[in-house]
Amino acid sequence: MTITTAKENITAARDALQKAYGATRPNSAALYERALAVLPGGNSRTQLYFPPFPFYVSSAVGCRITDVDGHTYLDLVSNYTSLVHGHPTPDLLATISAQAAAGTAYGAPAPVEVELAEELSRRMPSLERVRFANSGTEAVIYACRAARLFTGRTDLIRAEGGYDGGHDGMQVGLKTFSDDVASLPEAGVPDWVAEHTHLMPFNDIEASVAVIERVGPRSAAVVIEPVQGYAGHLPAAPGYLDAVREAATGAGCLLIFDEVLTFRLHVGGAQAIYGVTPDLTALGKLIGGGFPVGAFGGRADVMAAFDPRHPAVPFHGGTFNANPMSLAAGLEYMRQLTPEAVTRINAFGDELRDHINAQAVQLGVAVVASGIGSLLRLHGGSTVPDSARDALTRDQSLPELLYYLLLEEGVFMGTKRGVMCMSTAMGEADVAEIRSAFTKSLTRLATVLEGDS
Ligand code: PMP
Repeated sequence: MTITTAKENITAARDALQKAYGATRPNSAALYERALAVLPGGNSRTQLYFPPFPFYVSSAVGCRITDVDGHTYLDLVSNYTSLVHGHPTPDLLATISAQAAAGTAYGAPAPVEVELAEELSRRMPSLERVRFANSGTEAVIYACRAARLFTGRTDLIRAEGGYDGGHDGMQVGLKTFSDDVASLPEAGVPDWVAEHTHLMPFNDIEASVAVIERVGPRSAAVVIEPVQGYAGHLPAAPGYLDAVREAATGAGCLLIFDEVLTFRLHVGGAQAIYGVTPDLTALGKLIGGGFPVGAFGGRADVMAAFDPRHPAVPFHGGTFNANPMSLAAGLEYMRQLTPEAVTRINAFGDELRDHINAQAVQLGVAVVASGIGSLLRLHGGSTVPDSARDALTRDQSLPELLYYLLLEEGVFMGTKRGVMCMSTAMGEADVAEIRSAFTKSLTRLATVLEGDS
């Protein structure tokens, strides 16, 4: 008799699942081979890679996505939360077609720019003025620029483990941690950027306030997600954002909420849930209705720096800024994003999270779902992580196995980090199907751990 350890069982099961996955997707395999010859690692978006290769998509409708080998999956990724209504509904298709027929970009403003700005400002009253950009990354870059222009200061403070886009200033202390909160740049980011970026531990009021008191007076802004996304879908604890708000005001620096991810949680964004008003907010994802977009805005006196009638206006260009395709689709998305729709998908998310956690406990599988409302994440372990550092240093081998098991059950989540979200395209029956896929996959996972598979 051979005695195997749980670790060996997990590795053997993972290898077998990856092999079966690869063998049943010859068309994706062939595309990936071609991709390797022209794209580094075959890829333009790091998080989309998973071994042996990602499936290539041929079409998507509602909450289902179909790959080039004919497998259809329930889509829990929704392009990393941006497709809050799933893949185009007839109303959205009509809007997109009408806009395309009227022109895709003009090099001149279109009415829809004013309409979407008004709609966002109505939903989120802190957005007294707003400007559009092409991505969440750009939105954060320019919100920081606005804060620097307003305060005349250079440094930035951010929460450890927060993903606030791909630019240098925010690629510090993302997944490389240090105990002395000295900022650690990610690969390729210059040290001098890190020297001007200070980290604070999310949800630790005392330590965060101490950082803001120490370096706030030379910082332009504190940049923070009300619910940390990349770090593990970790909501701010009660009182945390209020304390950060107060400390930022005390230090004379601005508070920037990165709501690129969290705007889907409430019609007024997470700031409405927490009742904390930032000076500036960065938006992206869903406000483009499935097309590339970003927006930043907030206090009129801060945003006035971007008024082109101003003699010293900074150059904020962008060939595709406020492009009518993204904004027309975004406006239609907003029309469909009613308070009732938000409540419904948040309830779906709460229900799924409870189901996963109850099943995991019952089956004795060390996997746990975190998140809030329609946003969910999977972690190895039996307790929800209490910090970014906790989440990002956990062994993810069980969620990774679950990823392949769920694909076999026809459910697609965001790679081994288990990113999931609910969309309004889902109905009760779809959610029941997802729950049952989790029950089956967690049961199979339990058998793997016992060495019976
Ligand atoms: N901030 C947050 C909180 C995000 O989740 C993201 C994207 N995942 C970004 C910024 C960057 O947005 P984009 O990918 O559109 O550049």
